[in-house]
Amino acid sequence: MIDRTRPEPKPGVLDIAAYVPGKSKASGGSRLFKLSSNETPLGASHAAIEAYRDNAAALELYPDGGAVALREAIASVHGLNPANLVCGNGSDELLALLANTYLAPGDEAVFTEHAFLVYRIAVLAAGAKPVIVPETDLKADVDTMLSAVTDRTRLVFLANPNNPTGTYLPFDEVRRLHAALPPNVLLVIDAAYAEYVRRNDYESGIELVSTSQNVVMTRTFSKIYGLANLRLGWCYGPDHVIDALNRVRGPFNVTGPAIAAGIAAIRDRDFLENAVAHNEKWLPELTERLTALGLGVTPSVGNFILIHLPDVDGKRAPDADAYLLDRGIVVRRVENYGFPNSLRMSIGTDEANEAVIDALRSFLEKA
Ligand SMILES: *Cc1c(COP(=O)(O)O)cnc(C)c1O
Repeated sequence: MIDRTRPEPKPGVLDIAAYVPGKSKASGGSRLFKLSSNETPLGASHAAIEAYRDNAAALELYPDGGAVALREAIASVHGLNPANLVCGNGSDELLALLANTYLAPGDEAVFTEHAFLVYRIAVLAAGAKPVIVPETDLKADVDTMLSAVTDRTRLVFLANPNNPTGTYLPFDEVRRLHAALPPNVLLVIDAAYAEYVRRNDYESGIELVSTSQNVVMTRTFSKIYGLANLRLGWCYGPDHVIDALNRVRGPFNVTGPAIAAGIAAIRDRDFLENAVAHNEKWLPELTERLTALGLGVTPSVGNFILIHLPDVDGKRAPDADAYLLDRGIVVRRVENYGFPNSLRMSIGTDEANEAVIDALRSFLEKA
């Protein structure tokens, strides 16, 4: 029934479960390790912080709506044409923009069961239909995704690597997915964690975008660059997609401080290398040491891991979460991603990672 007594959101909006951000507080003492949102434990580049501060002198001025200098900096680091980039208020904005630009009511968008929750929100908010397909071994399955494509499909979202699983598709699989898609279906590759991945068979998607007319890649400054608070992402796509996004986006969707900090951040290659090295040390170490405690750990290529708890009274994910919170450790419950008995932890500082291992050991040992 249509309620005519008050304004009603369009169909789809009230089917959205609002995104729940990672908690940022714990009940424990003064110590707090926030490992719930895949933020870097290393802060931001000093050059980026300085550029951000310098920008405070001109807060009354509108930013450059085209973010030209930032697009040029990104383009030069990645070997791209700046005309094929659009920047956004976080890559979340770009994902929503893609949905709003390409989906009309009745259209379908395909993604997998444990995919990043923002896709579902963006698709429903655009008035379209999410088509959610099963994964195999917590990985996107190209054949299953393809079998869900109909003549109503307009978008396919693939997070590579995916959050919260941390798994990835080798690039020949992504190519196979793309090759079998109809040319009017846009493949959106969300490569938010690309900088962390150290695998010979991984690619972020740049070459596929460059050589086709129906692929876009989104990237972010929120993760390895440590600028989550500034909200800055970018997307690389063919001319016609970039043209459409530029028509729909807000004219000043990226702020001046974000542009300035982003330029400095992407040029600070030492900062990036250090962040990669920290992750390279801890990703295998956490995986091994938590596995040795008897926990299940899904092999990850990102800066976070998905930990599976025993299906035993008192030892399940909500119990472990409460135990960690009491000790000032905030991780992420992931039941809304289809994992009722798992927790996702971001890789933290040395101290934070040791604290998690200690706490989970005593949690599992206690009577
Ligand atoms: C964190 C994350 C993003 C990035 O979001 P921003 O809006 O750029 O902060 C995008 N995709 C995935 C899969 C993520 O985990």
